[in-house]
Amino acid sequence: MTAVHPSKIVCVGRNYPAHAAELGNEVPERPLLFLKPPSALVGNGDSIIIPSVSARVDHEAEIGVVIERRVRQATPDDAAAAIGLYLCLNDVTARDLQRTDGQWTRAKGFDTFCPVSDPVRPAIDWRELEVVCRVNGQERQRGRAADMHFAIPELIAYISTIMTLEPGDLVATGTPAGVGPLAAGDTVEVEIPGVGLLTNPVEAERGT
Ligand code: MG
Repeated sequence: MTAVHPSKIVCVGRNYPAHAAELGNEVPERPLLFLKPPSALVGNGDSIIIPSVSARVDHEAEIGVVIERRVRQATPDDAAAAIGLYLCLNDVTARDLQRTDGQWTRAKGFDTFCPVSDPVRPAIDWRELEVVCRVNGQERQRGRAADMHFAIPELIAYISTIMTLEPGDLVATGTPAGVGPLAAGDTVEVEIPGVGLLTNPVEAERGT
């Protein structure tokens, strides 16, 4: 169970230059968007299930933004006024299927592929937020909101020129460098100091 019930989860790809580079990509001219289905959501402590059809499932630690007021055709200032709650989010990705499919719905959309922590209104400014990923206690990723190519209010404003963002909708703002594989038996943590800590065990899909 999660404390959030979004109508959609809008995700941003390649928003940290160092991460775009590690996968051999350029930072895009405008935010690169995709959706994850709300059925992928799980909460803190829930298992991430590795589907048997994938041989490579990666963690992607991200700063998640919760929309508080309806946003449509917004300026970055309007967008900034419509947000204030943040959560830790793991944009779990079947990297092999992402490469073979040509679009990302399957790779990003399996059940359990969107763990989130409870939303929190941090005491610090969004520019100071930092996201950290650890696997079995070892740090794998660390990135600061200040290092994003497109800043959070710009992202929300841009998305709102395409689709109306409703209260409760989630925006995943991209992952920093250091993505890597998860295996059954691992424990993956996404931490945003001042926001929370999201911990999820990893399991293999059971045979049917
Ligand atoms: Mg991502």
